Amino acid sequence: MNIKIKKESIFITIFFAVSIVSVCAGEETKAIALLRDSGTESSNIQSDTETADTCAVSTLVELMKDESSGIREYVAELLGDKGNTSAIPVLIEALKDTFPVVRKSAVMSLGKISDSSIVPVLINMLDDKDTEVRKNTVEALGKFGDASIVPNLVKMLNDKDAEVRKSTVKILGTIDTGDSSVIVMLMNVLKKDKDWLVRKEAAFVLGNIGNPSIPFLIKELKGSIKGLVALSLGKTGNVSLVPVLKKALNDENPETRKYVAQAMGYLGRPAVVALMTTLSTPNENKDKRKYAAEALGIVGDSMAVPVLIEALNEKSEDIKNSAAEALKNIGQYAVDMAAKKLVEDEHNFDVCFKNAVFLAKFGDGRSLLLLVEALKLETYVEKALPVLEKYYGGKVKKVSESKEILCPACEGSGICSGCKGTGKSGEGIMFIPACEWCDGSGKCFICKGEGKIIKVYYKYIYVPAAEGKVSIGMPEVDPGNK
Ligand SMILES: [Zn+2]
Ligand SMILES: [Zn+2]
Repeated sequence: MNIKIKKESIFITIFFAVSIVSVCAGEETKAIALLRDSGTESSNIQSDTETADTCAVSTLVELMKDESSGIREYVAELLGDKGNTSAIPVLIEALKDTFPVVRKSAVMSLGKISDSSIVPVLINMLDDKDTEVRKNTVEALGKFGDASIVPNLVKMLNDKDAEVRKSTVKILGTIDTGDSSVIVMLMNVLKKDKDWLVRKEAAFVLGNIGNPSIPFLIKELKGSIKGLVALSLGKTGNVSLVPVLKKALNDENPETRKYVAQAMGYLGRPAVVALMTTLSTPNENKDKRKYAAEALGIVGDSMAVPVLIEALNEKSEDIKNSAAEALKNIGQYAVDMAAKKLVEDEHNFDVCFKNAVFLAKFGDGRSLLLLVEALKLETYVEKALPVLEKYYGGKVKKVSESKEILCPACEGSGICSGCKGTGKSGEGIMFIPACEWCDGSGKCFICKGEGKIIKVYYKYIYVPAAEGKVSIGMPEVDPGNK
């Protein structure tokens, strides 16, 4: 069937239904007559509002017989929105619909109506062959929050579809059984489910359960699930767990450390302070300090910025790099602050240059300017050039430029400074040999009497990648003759 036509027919039918509802708000309408004739719930009609409600439901019930599955799906949804128990029989009937979308809609609506009489009907739907129907049935049952449904939900933890298992985990977390049975089930999911997202969901749900989960989680804070368990502990928000997580942070696996750091982030400032202390304690283990710096970057609390900048002066490249990486994670402003201190406020050019080279990998702007500036200085060119090209892109180009200048030997006179233009090596009446400098010509031996020479300068120009044509600075270096 053409989709456009189908949509239109749904619209017309719904419009028709809505019209009936508004007509029903008045008295003595055909719809009410129809309703009364049919005898449905007539004894319950007490007020105008209820009349309207019941009337709309009966109209919708009629529409559930429509041959279009799209209409049945939509009408089933509307019946749920009305929350009227009189819709229950027709919705239960819709659970047998051959179209999964209709069954799903009916299940969702039954969940909204939340009448305890339908629990057994919904439990049957947990075996539906359609994934979406099973998933929505789990969620509909969850609306009852009743501990008695837990045994039925447990088997859904083995459902072949990860989405169904994930929903089940979420719903189990909302049910209070009065004991730790749900925690045990969720721990099992966290440890064993084959889908990582389901396991992560279990970790979050366990964390949201809070303190009752903690003893179960701490026992499993090891091995390959350490990161997930830590996440869960962090989610409990219990700050007394800071030392436990700080210890868990010392793991060789960077993925694990990432999750432990995230978990510490959930615990907020007390965890940040603990990490800052580890980082700034000089005799603490190097790895622990490195991991603390890394974690501070993941947590992203700006409070840690000064301590991280301080760590950039560390001898250990590992700690320095982690601290700089953390500053970058916290934000560009943190890198800027570091650069201001290390590059702008540093007066020793050599130290300043080294800092700029280090900060270049974080794309810092102040370092860029300093490195371009360093192109003017012969001794720094070789170091600045590869750093500029690697971290800031673009190219450093060596260009030459010729300039006519006054001859430095004769200061522009063109006369040989050895013989003052006489061409002789001395004075007297005896034979006097010719001037050695000018071979007797009397002209300046550098400029050959021109008074001017051409001098070639070399410049290093940094051409940024993005702009292409714009060059930053036009420094002159290597003055000297070709
Ligand atoms: Zn000269
Ligand atoms: Zn001479």
